[in-house]
Amino acid sequence: MKKLLLLLALCVFTIAVFAQRRHKRYTAGPATPIYYTVSFPNAVHHEAEIMITVPQAPRGPLRFRMSRSSPGRYATHEFGKNVYNVSAFTDKGTMLTVKQVDGDIYEIPIHPSTVNISYTLFGNWVDGTYAGIDAGQAHLNMPATFMWVVGAERRPVKFRFTDLDKHNWKVSTQLKYEGGNTYSAPDLQYLMDSPVALSAYKQTSWDITNPNGRRQRINLHVYSDDSQQAIESFGKMVHKLTLEEQAVFGELPLYDNGEYTFMANVHPSVNGDGMEHRNCTVITDPFYKIEGNEKAALGTFAHEYFHSWNVERLRPKSLQPFDFTHSNQSSELWFAEGFTQYYGEMLLTRAGFYTADDYAQVLGLVVNAALNTPAAKKYSPVQMSNYAVFADAGVSVDAVNNSNIFTSYYLYGAATALALDLRLRSEFNLTLDDYMRQVWLTYGKTEKPYTIQMLQLALARYTKEPAFASDFFKEFIYGADKNNYEGLLANAGFLMRKAQPGAAWAGPPFNSVGRSRAGQSHSAAAAEGLLIATTVVENTPVYKAGLDAGDVILQADGQPITNQADWDSIINTKKPGEKVKVKYNNRMGVSEVDIILEENPVYQVVTFERAGQTLNKEQEAFRDAWLRSKIK
Ligand SMILES: [Zn+2]
Repeated sequence: MKKLLLLLALCVFTIAVFAQRRHKRYTAGPATPIYYTVSFPNAVHHEAEIMITVPQAPRGPLRFRMSRSSPGRYATHEFGKNVYNVSAFTDKGTMLTVKQVDGDIYEIPIHPSTVNISYTLFGNWVDGTYAGIDAGQAHLNMPATFMWVVGAERRPVKFRFTDLDKHNWKVSTQLKYEGGNTYSAPDLQYLMDSPVALSAYKQTSWDITNPNGRRQRINLHVYSDDSQQAIESFGKMVHKLTLEEQAVFGELPLYDNGEYTFMANVHPSVNGDGMEHRNCTVITDPFYKIEGNEKAALGTFAHEYFHSWNVERLRPKSLQPFDFTHSNQSSELWFAEGFTQYYGEMLLTRAGFYTADDYAQVLGLVVNAALNTPAAKKYSPVQMSNYAVFADAGVSVDAVNNSNIFTSYYLYGAATALALDLRLRSEFNLTLDDYMRQVWLTYGKTEKPYTIQMLQLALARYTKEPAFASDFFKEFIYGADKNNYEGLLANAGFLMRKAQPGAAWAGPPFNSVGRSRAGQSHSAAAAEGLLIATTVVENTPVYKAGLDAGDVILQADGQPITNQADWDSIINTKKPGEKVKVKYNNRMGVSEVDIILEENPVYQVVTFERAGQTLNKEQEAFRDAWLRSKIK
């Protein structure tokens, strides 16, 4: 009863708000807006009340639904699980019959021209994909928050947020401001790409002018415990970064309302993430403050801003238009994410936030992803991109074999970008910057979605060497061949070498869990020893000895083993080629096996200077041309 009263109150309210528009004569077809009214009477318990008013509802049974995917996130998500109290009624408050025809799909069999739909949303997860509502904020990713009317995807949408004064919240969004508390989107695709953050955030802004004289505004909105002064000084750092990014492409994209906004949410309760959108990005960092964590935060800012060219406008055909009813597979993520990853880190170096030694550590991670993961040895960047529908925030209860069949297309793609950049520089006296600029002008600025073949054609045109482009794509994009990273990096005075030469190694730690949150193994015997919690990595000494997830190591060389430190202390006394006798337990009972240790295959990258070698003139010039600031 209480719920019904609330619905009726909302209904009357919405009709009053939009009454003026109601009395206008609507033109038929896609131009008639759909109205969303959003309020937070129970924010402290993470609930929002949402009402959708659909004038001129499509004839016949009216279907409306939650999404199952979100732009920029590639796995399937059951957003419908957090929606309840779904009802529908007429303008006079008469209830309409609503059938739940599938988990996240509802149907109103019989209805008048105007239909009001109402539901409660629960959201308590702040990142780039979900919704988080509490007394201090409503952090809303749209597919996780708003139902939509099937068949009305092209109609414009108007939003009204009702409780802003009560909560002392301001609105951060790329939605178009329409006055009062009202915002709009031209259609469903745009709406779903336009997150809304309601909070008492702090802000700073700066303008950037393109070579053609067009000036655009960049906003930094931060909901955190930082002082205004700290936000402004961080804003100066991000400003420098945005100029460095502009220099790669030669210009900023044309933002839809002349503005781009960094929507940052910083608190230990949030989940670290970054999510790109056309004219904004949502960045969530689990620190109390940005102040003191600037260097850790900047990488995500650099990466996400690069997306405002690469993926938001320079867009793979496979993601256009985005399908909100299931996951969207794209074979181009090695470029959309991987090349963005490469530039995000490299531009921090150009902007002066990383030293060459800092950047060498990043290069080490990138090179290991390409050369030292089982999946990159077998599978191509294209194949790894296709697996994103399972790996990118895809949560599984059961165990997956990701350690052996998946490597991140971010790092693998970044390694491919690194190799291409260094080869263009050393073999052609060209640069990846200029290639990106060509691709931007052809497919990005014009917003003509690209295919991998088009990227190859652009490389052939740019290098004037179709054979090079064809070989590069065949070997390193469609294939799993590897470039000569050691030689390429030496051009710039970076030394690639074994990280722990001569050290014995049995495999990675037994409890490492990646972003995919793969299922953890259990064992009744775990209390007695060291449980191997996750899938064992292929071709490591432990794998070759036949141990796997769920096995519990009881002893090594007769010494009791109860944790990773016990295990490491035994391995660290050995040399590659030596054995360790292991007693372990599983459902088959207690067994013994010899593990033959090997040298740790992990590489590190260091500057020649750090390695005690001298940089020659050519290396110095090469590194300088590659990594010095390009801001004019
Ligand atoms: Zn990204």
